[in-house]
Amino acid sequence: MIRNYRDLTRLEMEQVNREETIVLIPLGALEQHGNQAPLGTDDIIAEAMTRYLKKELEAQDPDFPMLIFPVIPVGLSTEHKNFCGSITFKPATYYHMLYDICASLAHHGFRKIALLVCHGGNAPVAQILSRELRSELGISPFILSSGAFSHPDVTATISPGNVWDFHGGEMETSMVMAVDPSLVKLETSEAGIPTAFKDNKALKPYGSVSIGWVSEDWKTTDGKPIGIGGDPSGASAEKGRIILETSAKVLVPGLMEIRDWTP
Ligand SMILES: [Zn+2]
Repeated sequence: MIRNYRDLTRLEMEQVNREETIVLIPLGALEQHGNQAPLGTDDIIAEAMTRYLKKELEAQDPDFPMLIFPVIPVGLSTEHKNFCGSITFKPATYYHMLYDICASLAHHGFRKIALLVCHGGNAPVAQILSRELRSELGISPFILSSGAFSHPDVTATISPGNVWDFHGGEMETSMVMAVDPSLVKLETSEAGIPTAFKDNKALKPYGSVSIGWVSEDWKTTDGKPIGIGGDPSGASAEKGRIILETSAKVLVPGLMEIRDWTP
């Protein structure tokens, strides 16, 4: 049975098999997502992902033992901090905040904690944290990546020619539209490309030779910093539904193995 952590009473929590139950902690962010998508895009996607995951998991195992923790609404968004409205923790603050949450869960006997990473900037801290938690507390921390952005069913949703799609682009905007189209102002959207890197063969924002990129590296074709990758103008709610559903399905086999995992 999958329930929201915050909905349980203390007496109900006392009845939970805390050794077996997975606590899923969705890691969101509060940061600019271009002209058209809301600051809470990653948060909104995180919450939607938990609903899609619940549906997919319960279809396979109605008794799937999981509690969904409230979405952590702020993350590590240093790269976006100069764009209006972006909020970020410092890496050490974020690490210690998450560590304390996990230590509290461990204190109550939980042994399986799954961090659902819904913003790429949070991933490095989640990686470090997972190893520290395992080593220091002896619990089993797992990391789930929320978007199956290289899955063929997902890449098929991207409009032809939109080769740079990533942060704040067509895919993320579509996912928000699948939740609430009124939150997206598609008519204001502008495309972003990593202008300084686009002709490079080796040095890129990602890959084997990379830079600590900032959002300003992503510009419109006329050179204005726009802070997003790709062209959101082809986004749609139906595309978003496909991306969310595919991404949830991709995580199900791993979550089944987490259910069966014995340390
Ligand atoms: Zn995002």
